Amino acid sequence: MAEQPRIIEDKATPIKKEWEEYARKGNWTVKGYEMVRALSGGGLEEQCREEDFMVVYRPHGVLYHHSYGLVSKFFKGLVDKRLYGTKCPKCQTVYCPPRVHCWNPDCKVADTRWIELPLRGKVHTFSVMLFSADAFLEMLPFVLAYVQIDGAHTAIPIQVVTAPTNVFIGQKVNIKFRQKRTGDLMDIYAVPAKGQKIPADSCLHGEKQNLRDLSRDLEGTYAFLDKRFGIKKQDVERRWKA
Ligand SMILES: [Zn+2]
Repeated sequence: MAEQPRIIEDKATPIKKEWEEYARKGNWTVKGYEMVRALSGGGLEEQCREEDFMVVYRPHGVLYHHSYGLVSKFFKGLVDKRLYGTKCPKCQTVYCPPRVHCWNPDCKVADTRWIELPLRGKVHTFSVMLFSADAFLEMLPFVLAYVQIDGAHTAIPIQVVTAPTNVFIGQKVNIKFRQKRTGDLMDIYAVPAKGQKIPADSCLHGEKQNLRDLSRDLEGTYAFLDKRFGIKKQDVERRWKA
């Protein structure tokens, strides 16, 4: 019989307990209902008829646990404020994010080795996020870049904390760790290295129309943030100065 896995570090018990308590209180059962009248039937609205529907309200949640498998060291590294990649012993390709096996066909899925990488890199390409999924709305607007870590041959998505109008391809960045880390890609972010000039021919600054379009779209995001969260433009700009 295969040996059972052993827990060697447990940072999950509080959340497991919290979840058990949630279930113990009888959640996941129906709490109430409402009757609503709505159209029923396919096709055009005038071909439908009104029906009464019962809608039940049942709190529901999932405590999802899964393994990071053979790239666990990378995610544990984020918790411990270290950045790891992997290197192929045959072709010397360095992967960050890590790959367990080399993807170079000549290497025939060779096992890679772990290496520690420096906390710096450069912007390979980027997007400015003006809208997002719920979880990130209050972070808007933000820059999401593919950053090539120094020494790596691949690029990893990282938030660059800077004014969206200041980012450029090739920008040197330093990698920082957030105070609260959970072993998630969001544990890290990047800030531009000091003393860099925005190139006159950058994709934003070389095409003045692009810069004007972005500035206009940013105003839409600021208006949304104010209306939804009461977050002001100057609050957002303060994040980029810190
Ligand atoms: Zn290889």
